[in-house]
Amino acid sequence: MHKLSDFNIENKNLTIRVDMNVPIKDGMVVDQTRINACIPTIELALKKNANILLVSHLGRPEEGKHDSSLSLIPVAKCISEIFQVPVDVINSLDDISIFNGSSSIQILENIRFFDGEMGNKDSLGKSLANIGDIYVFDAFGTSHREQASTHSAIINSKASCAGLLLEKEISALTKALKNAESPFVAVIGGAKVSTKLELIKNINLKADSIIVGGGIANTFIRASGYEIGKSLYEESMLDIASEILEGNKIMLPEKVITSSTFEGENIQEKMLSDICEDEMILDQSLTAAMKETLINSKTILWNGPLGVFENESFSKGTKDLSKTIAGCDSFSLAGGGETLTAINNFINKDDVSYCSTGGGAFLEFMEGKELPSIAALKAKN
Ligand code: AMP
Repeated sequence: MHKLSDFNIENKNLTIRVDMNVPIKDGMVVDQTRINACIPTIELALKKNANILLVSHLGRPEEGKHDSSLSLIPVAKCISEIFQVPVDVINSLDDISIFNGSSSIQILENIRFFDGEMGNKDSLGKSLANIGDIYVFDAFGTSHREQASTHSAIINSKASCAGLLLEKEISALTKALKNAESPFVAVIGGAKVSTKLELIKNINLKADSIIVGGGIANTFIRASGYEIGKSLYEESMLDIASEILEGNKIMLPEKVITSSTFEGENIQEKMLSDICEDEMILDQSLTAAMKETLINSKTILWNGPLGVFENESFSKGTKDLSKTIAGCDSFSLAGGGETLTAINNFINKDDVSYCSTGGGAFLEFMEGKELPSIAALKAKN
């Protein structure tokens, strides 16, 4: 795959596909983490006097229709503040001021307002591909989607390469997936086994131990024969969970936090064998063996909370996990929206070796799938 460093980008026109799908409230960006992640590539391009046209989606507008509530104008303002330069918003790919305006940074309006984006239409892909000299793909968070700006534009470009963020993501994720130093422990939490089954199966082939949490742990706990009352679990996943348990890599909790309601009535810490039929497991305590495994590991992969951490009463397990990982010397990799929220709530992002910007893309990469944008970049020569 070509990298940005393979090209002389001095004074060139760069079309850069970024993932600036950020939360916006009252016309303001409320969390600019994803924008910050794009800074290195933009900074490098500015240093080389390149002209920049950023391309991103925002939310899920009806394809081909302008929706002012999902305009990238607030994002343009945010970028303008970061780089202290004006940032023009471009509404049409036929606009003659593209790469020819007063600002060195321009941003195309929400690419999902353009007909053909979601359907990966060649006509839109070709327009995006040919507008500049190089099509730089830096949107790891959307690299699992085969759309005009994430696939067709790469295929149809005269020159295309990975941006600095994409390079960093691939390097960190590959380190955990393909070159993990042993002992390798994975923590897989969250709500449902079914949404993470492919991840669990793939990681089960690679990790030495898997700590399970949340509703995912509940399904494994049930498959081990315990009664789990009203807890969230998936009946249809019990057989596969039993099969995975036979590999002896799954680490189950011993003590869990139960309550009779989601709001937190009658909260108790209980052994797995003591759960009543009107109770549900909403959090868990890290066992001594889990802590020891994490501390002695060389590689940690973390996706998904250990409990309903949004409610403080059920956040202890996820908080304790965050702090334990922060104190480990191992290479730690975290990914997924809820996981990053937990990290931001309980520790410092820098306490984890690498936090991926991808949600779905992170999961699919870790499932061992070839992501369409990455495959398209690799196919270019
Ligand atoms: P996921 O998107 O699969 O990583 O799931 C994250 C969600 O799982 C969070 O919003 C948690 O509130 C929820 N969750 C975690 N543990 C439990 C549990 N024991 N019961 C129900 N929901 C849970």
